[in-house]
Amino acid sequence: MSVQEQLVDNFSRVVNYVRISVTDRCDFRCIYCMDDEMKFIPRAQLLTLEEIARIGKAFTELGVNKIRITGGEPLIRRNIIKLFNDLGALPGLKELVTTTNGSQLEAMAQQLKDAGVKRLNISLDSLDANKFKRITRVGDLNKVLDGIDTALAVGFKKIKINAVILKNRNHDEVVDLVNYVIDKGIDISFIEEMPLGVIGDHDRAEAYYSSDEIRRDLESSFELIPTTETTAGPSKYYKLTGHNTRVGFISPHSHNFCDQCNRVRLTCEGRLLLCLGQEHSVDLRKVVRAHPDNDEALKQAIRDAMSIKPKGHDFNLNEKPIIFRHMNVTGG
Ligand code: SAM
Ligand code: SF4
Repeated sequence: MSVQEQLVDNFSRVVNYVRISVTDRCDFRCIYCMDDEMKFIPRAQLLTLEEIARIGKAFTELGVNKIRITGGEPLIRRNIIKLFNDLGALPGLKELVTTTNGSQLEAMAQQLKDAGVKRLNISLDSLDANKFKRITRVGDLNKVLDGIDTALAVGFKKIKINAVILKNRNHDEVVDLVNYVIDKGIDISFIEEMPLGVIGDHDRAEAYYSSDEIRRDLESSFELIPTTETTAGPSKYYKLTGHNTRVGFISPHSHNFCDQCNRVRLTCEGRLLLCLGQEHSVDLRKVVRAHPDNDEALKQAIRDAMSIKPKGHDFNLNEKPIIFRHMNVTGG
């Protein structure tokens, strides 16, 4: 039996997880993610769905066993279900998952399930339609709530809500959001805002609400029990006494998680980013287009990229962003 190859970086971290942004476009304009007036990447510069599938396959042959499809809003890319079907059929892949704002789930949840998607992360920052609209600038809360119900109805067992908590926008809703996920039998992660891209009308330092403050707020209503569980990711998880729901905290500012990083990201233009908070990258679009019939060249480019994966990020909300990519380009 051949030994499965692994991707290992200079700090002995094994990379077995890839997040792929399939589009920078979105039907929402969340205040922490996008500027009011965004310029999107011309469609001709995007990787085709076939190119993305090819890169996904190369990664699985190098030991990657988890792929997350994200964006922008992944479910608004035309024919995206074909990509889910192609990736879902890869023998080396244990987990195909996606992150979505939920707006298209009513129509697409069943097709995602059929393609072999195992878990859904659905973003939901508020249960109040007006606040939801203020945060997403254009989003319709009821559409998202219906999407979540459809995903549950078609049999998704593992659903996690992602909520970015901002002071004076939605910080007073953390208990309501936890009661909502308890009621639905799903999990939630609270995310601290990260300084990705310049956003004209939003002051990130002023809106900062730390994971410790959220936990303190929750402790007035729930008993939180720390778990030792790790997803080799940035979330710290807690159980709630008397419930199955898990509550996670993604804290890039208050808790650095880089030493356990197991992931890399592919932008919708084909840039392989070795760290969310740094610009080290390799242009895989150039490689797939230069070698249309040779996956070995692609795999070698991926192996070589591991040597430039940086030790960690260096986010600081009080300084001007050092990362000019918005989150929708990077893929959250
Ligand atoms: N459109 C999909 C969605 O919203 O779930 C997928 C892409 S979105 C960029 C992925 C995740 O990143 C979302 O949960 C969103 O809340 C989060 N996000 C976006 N911008 C962020 C920022 N500046 N800091 C922290 N999280 C952010
Ligand atoms: Fe769109 Fe997701 Fe960014 Fe909100 S967080 S604007 S839903 S890509």
